[in-house]
Amino acid sequence: MDAPDQMPQRAPVRDVVEYELLFDCVHCGLCLEACPTYLLTRAEMDSPRGRIYQMKALAEGRLDADTDVVRHLDFCLGCRGCETACPSGVHYGALIEQTRAWVEDNCSRSMPERLKRWVVGALFPYPARLRLALAPLRMIERAGLRPMLERAMPQVLREWIDLLPPLNGSGELRTEQESAHEGRRGSVAVHHGCVAQVLADRANRNAEKLLGRAGYGIARLGRTVCCGALDLHSGNRRRARQFARANVRAIRQSGADFVISTASGCSTAMAEYGELLKDDPELGAAAREVSARVRELSRLLVESGLPANDRFECTLTYHDACHLAHGLGIREQPRTLLRSIPGVKLIEMDSSDLCCGSAGSYNLTHPEAARALARRKADAIIATRAEYVVLANPGCQFQIAAELRRRNSSVKVMHLADFLALAASPPQD
Ligand code: SF4
Ligand code: SF4
Repeated sequence: MDAPDQMPQRAPVRDVVEYELLFDCVHCGLCLEACPTYLLTRAEMDSPRGRIYQMKALAEGRLDADTDVVRHLDFCLGCRGCETACPSGVHYGALIEQTRAWVEDNCSRSMPERLKRWVVGALFPYPARLRLALAPLRMIERAGLRPMLERAMPQVLREWIDLLPPLNGSGELRTEQESAHEGRRGSVAVHHGCVAQVLADRANRNAEKLLGRAGYGIARLGRTVCCGALDLHSGNRRRARQFARANVRAIRQSGADFVISTASGCSTAMAEYGELLKDDPELGAAAREVSARVRELSRLLVESGLPANDRFECTLTYHDACHLAHGLGIREQPRTLLRSIPGVKLIEMDSSDLCCGSAGSYNLTHPEAARALARRKADAIIATRAEYVVLANPGCQFQIAAELRRRNSSVKVMHLADFLALAASPPQD
């Protein structure tokens, strides 16, 4: 390992990352125990410090971009737990996104890896394609044959399908959608996402209802495309920029004062459009403006004053989605909302901000590591003996629910927006 570097010692020979950013790391190792992949393998090269070392060596031409290096870089969840732990202010999220774009253009992967990544990239950012792909499964589920299908599937597909929530009534119909309206606190556009609008649109609609009740107006986006987070994580920055440009235009045209997403990775991606499009001559300034309008549901609800709620007797625990906690620094607001409901008892789980293994499409590309992290998360949840686990990201919701289903656990997994809506109007007996 290199001695601590305070300033560039060599000129980079490859344009892997913004080279100067690498020198924020002083190799102290304080991030290691916060890194889920290091906790799994205990290998330096699977730690934030080890990956930064590899990025620097790649940039300086001291390391070949062979399959080992690509494997260590791909193994990173992009959870940014290391950023929270780092006393030196290392911008690890930016470093890994830039490195992955370079890897994408300069390295090769095995055929099965390429195929998996192609399927994810061709399907998930496009809601119409995803709906079409899921249509047969929806029919099979309606006929009660999903368990039989899963047993007959090859393992890779079985693992993917296992992660899906129940498809009947998963909220893809928008019959109860809040219409656009004015509000005394300014207007909010809810970005319905790509995968989220197909598999977890109920959370979007509940977020709109909660915001409406809190006094916010609802603005509508003329066109919603993927926020680009999936592409940023996989190294496809070109397409991420295309998505970002479309969203910047749509958000500006909506006239919304604020924009939120019920998926934490999407909120973080939109909050970073200003950086992503900083060199765009047409939309650079607009992107910065849009990023400044990005908020988070719980923050807006807390700022509007806590709503009066009837009693809702239950015990629950809260899981911190990575990008919400480590990307946007939102930890207290969801807890404040939950604690404000009379009858709710919030029990903290161990390491609530340790990644559950979902991490965008990580649970599809790295099923074994993702499953190991899901097991840890499920252990922590079950140890609280809570009736509900509440979280604010659909990906975590699917990942944790799948693991709890495998264990026949009775713990109910709910998005924060859905839980708040349920507590505000519980079902009548
Ligand atoms: S982003 Fe997460 S998995 Fe990647 S190095 Fe940082 S803590 Fe580890
Ligand atoms: S905590 Fe920060 S400075 Fe220390 S090794 Fe990790 S990334 Fe580098």
